[in-house]
Amino acid sequence: MPNSSSTPNNNDKPQLPVISQSELQDLMKKHGQPAFRAKQVIDWRNKGVLNPDAMKNIPGELRHILNAELICEPLRLVRRECSVDGTRKYVFALNRPRFSGKMVESVLIPEQSRGTVCISSQVGCVLDCPFCHTGTQGFEANLTAGEIVAQVLMIKADLHNEPLAGDLHNEVTHIVYMGMGEPLANETGLHDSLIALLSDDGLKLSRRRITVSTSGLVPQINRLGEAFNVNLAISLHSAIDSLRDTLVPINKKHPLKQLRDCLNRYSLGKQRHITLEYVLLKETNDREEDIRALIDFVNPERERVNLIQFNPYPGSPYDGSSKEHMSKFAQQLISKGIRATVRRSRGQDIMAACGQLKAETSKE
Ligand code: SAH
Ligand code: SF4
Repeated sequence: MPNSSSTPNNNDKPQLPVISQSELQDLMKKHGQPAFRAKQVIDWRNKGVLNPDAMKNIPGELRHILNAELICEPLRLVRRECSVDGTRKYVFALNRPRFSGKMVESVLIPEQSRGTVCISSQVGCVLDCPFCHTGTQGFEANLTAGEIVAQVLMIKADLHNEPLAGDLHNEVTHIVYMGMGEPLANETGLHDSLIALLSDDGLKLSRRRITVSTSGLVPQINRLGEAFNVNLAISLHSAIDSLRDTLVPINKKHPLKQLRDCLNRYSLGKQRHITLEYVLLKETNDREEDIRALIDFVNPERERVNLIQFNPYPGSPYDGSSKEHMSKFAQQLISKGIRATVRRSRGQDIMAACGQLKAETSKE
């Protein structure tokens, strides 16, 4: 794995969400502060406290140093919406000079035994899958590693300040890169954020609890596997090249055969599998020939299929398949020995479900 490092943003200051303890120690040394202060700052940071003024046990002088030397809060919370099912959607604005006002969204999906945070990697997306709300927005910016990790930290702090009602889990245990953007098209931001999330002085998450979802950038998937070997989800959506060229246009560059070879090479531990995501679009990719092609494509030993209900957004050009048809589709896969699940949509009432994320980038 590459060495841990914080990613400078456009004015080159290190960012608190991803800085390592040793980098902070160097900073303490430079300013004549005792080394143990670095650990105190890291402890606050890992709890999601990014504003030095809220770090109760550090002296005023150090707060001043942190504010001057680091980008402490790369994001600002603009809005939070809570769904009836406990899902929370967060809208964050970037705190960068040229991009202030640009926004990204993150979603907390709580269950009884886990808390999953779905994070964004870009403002908009470089790709333009026609069924995806983010794709219609165009590309505006790659997030820095600090901005990616800040989403997780700020949600952690929010959960601490305002725990969920009922028996829902109040910790962030799992991370999925399934928010706005194509994480593998922002390789620097993705890799540096993974280093911070996995590191011992960061959130110390296991790579089994992190999933990167991609539309299928083959060389980048290979590099992700070699460097981090986190869980992989592929937005497949069709196993027929001519249709996938339309639904997931990156297929024109990396067609199914290339993707197949790449998935065969992705290293998996015991009990792990690759997830193939398949959003069911009525009379588009839910026909008999689509099922047959999918059955031929999947390697049931290493892969499972996650059928996703299409989440409409204003002006979306597709309809979703009916619930009955989705179950039938799943049954046909299962009868061929393929593990298939139907993803329950969460947070639809607050437009927080898959593919619905599109921040109102200019108005606040
Ligand atoms: N860019 C990455 C990750 C973000 S999209 C990728 O494409 O994998 C996260 C998931 O939501 C992908 O599987 C994507 O195909 C799916 N998705 C996009 N728009 C959707 C919609 N309108 N309804 C349901 N799922 C959608
Ligand atoms: Fe981008 Fe993923 Fe949406 Fe495609 S599905 S436009 S890759 S965010």
